[in-house]
Amino acid sequence: MAKTIGVTMSQRIAAGLLHDHKLSGAIRFYPEDATHDDALVELPREALIEVICDQVIAIAHGAKDIAAVGIAVPGLVRAGVVLDSPNLPQLKGAHIQEQLTSLLRENGLNAPVTLLNDADCVAAGIAAKLGHLDRMVRVWTLGNGIGYGRYPFTPGVWEGGHTVITLDAKETYCGCGGRGHLEGIMGHRAMRMRFLDMEPEEVFEAAKSGDERCLEFKKLWHRALAAATATSIHQAGPGKFYVTGFNLRFVDMPMLTDYMQQMVKMSPLQNYSVEPVHESDDVYVIGAGVAAEHTTSL
Ligand SMILES: [Zn+2]
Repeated sequence: MAKTIGVTMSQRIAAGLLHDHKLSGAIRFYPEDATHDDALVELPREALIEVICDQVIAIAHGAKDIAAVGIAVPGLVRAGVVLDSPNLPQLKGAHIQEQLTSLLRENGLNAPVTLLNDADCVAAGIAAKLGHLDRMVRVWTLGNGIGYGRYPFTPGVWEGGHTVITLDAKETYCGCGGRGHLEGIMGHRAMRMRFLDMEPEEVFEAAKSGDERCLEFKKLWHRALAAATATSIHQAGPGKFYVTGFNLRFVDMPMLTDYMQQMVKMSPLQNYSVEPVHESDDVYVIGAGVAAEHTTSL
């Protein structure tokens, strides 16, 4: 029975022990109190890595047979190094995999550590929870930025949130500075920049009551998601797509389905599905453990 540990960090660090792709025991949080939102941003890099180590050691609880430790990071990750992490900027350039491996060893745990992009972990977590570990799962995470994750993990750059979905030169709201990107339309931060006088919640509320500018934006937002999904289908084939994240609340599934049908017309590619999944800590933690086990065994 494979034991793995999954760790994720966004607002807080969440860590859990997995037995055969299922959570065993409760998820451990740092800080324990959910109200202190900026706790991780304020921690210097070395302190943050030490906190992660403490959490893993506590979760392992003396076990020596941990097959893999997966650390999910919001950002661009390559070969155990965080190349960029806009939400936890102190991690940029951090060799977390290497540092954590030796720190864990010093604390008596000899286990392979894998650093993963958090969107890939969500894809692995959804695949594990829904029993789809035998097929390709792709997921969009709708938050401040737009994440794109896929399971099974394959090496490469999967910055699907920056898929170009419009040639409109005025579309410049993406956090990366690129023009015409999906995140520049759908990202929470980008929406706040576009509607300086309204919060995203108010925009979608006003769209319901027929405000023309807001309704137009709601359509653009859904067309953008449909376009990026259609592009992924045209390049990697049909299959299962999931949508999650805190802005899943804005998704109008019938509208999205309608745009998808307009954009994917070749019949061999129409065997796809797009489904909503509510965000939860266990999906991330399970995904980090499952994805780490998968990569460790490659
Ligand atoms: Zn971008």
